[in-house]
Amino acid sequence: MTTTNNARRVFLKSTGRLILASGAIAKFGLPTSTANAAMSCKAQNKATQSAITPETALQRLKDGNARFVEGRSLNCDHMKQVKATGDGQFPFAAIVGCIDSRASNELIFDQGIGDVFSGRLAGNFVNDDMIGSLEFACAAAGAKLILVVGHTECGAVKGACDDVVMGNLTQTLANIKPAVAAVQGFKDDRSSKNAAFVQAVADKNVELTISRIRERSSILRGMAEKGDIALAGAMYDVHTGVAIFV
Ligand SMILES: [Zn+2]
Repeated sequence: MTTTNNARRVFLKSTGRLILASGAIAKFGLPTSTANAAMSCKAQNKATQSAITPETALQRLKDGNARFVEGRSLNCDHMKQVKATGDGQFPFAAIVGCIDSRASNELIFDQGIGDVFSGRLAGNFVNDDMIGSLEFACAAAGAKLILVVGHTECGAVKGACDDVVMGNLTQTLANIKPAVAAVQGFKDDRSSKNAAFVQAVADKNVELTISRIRERSSILRGMAEKGDIALAGAMYDVHTGVAIFV
């Protein structure tokens, strides 16, 4: 199989999964009792954070996205959470996402005040400052999971594909260029006009961002090797609201 076909297969597989996930959610909508909703609105504290594992942290974000997609977002009393977290925060995850106005981490994973650290840069990459922030989130503040979330129709990814040059954005987009270069094939059109190419770059960018966190942070790599944290990726579809975890 050529690399081009491989990239296309990954894209098709990912779009196929999107359809499957939407169908599954619509068919097997999870029941939520009022009691469960109230429990989930409870702000994190030291005890609840300690009880969460990297695996359950990931499940919480999967469940949150399912609620969001099904229109079952918890609608928690945020001021109640503000009062509960004012003296200290105990988030269970750190999410690296894009600044895209359609991809707010807390909204798409249905999380409240004090639940997650949220790091956002155009193109959901990590630089030294973001990695330092993730070290704070996990090593100092106890988060159990780092989730890197890319999204479909990403303007930053499209800009990187097109070699856009504009002020400071040029340097920002340079951080996504390794993903552009790593996607082979698509010889006929490697521009933002080719939706399959753009999606392949977005997928690769999530993969490389996770690798970069491991490579550049001995602290986070060590925590991951010990099983204290997990690193995971997801692709958020701006058309459906579904996040596919990879
Ligand atoms: Zn974006």
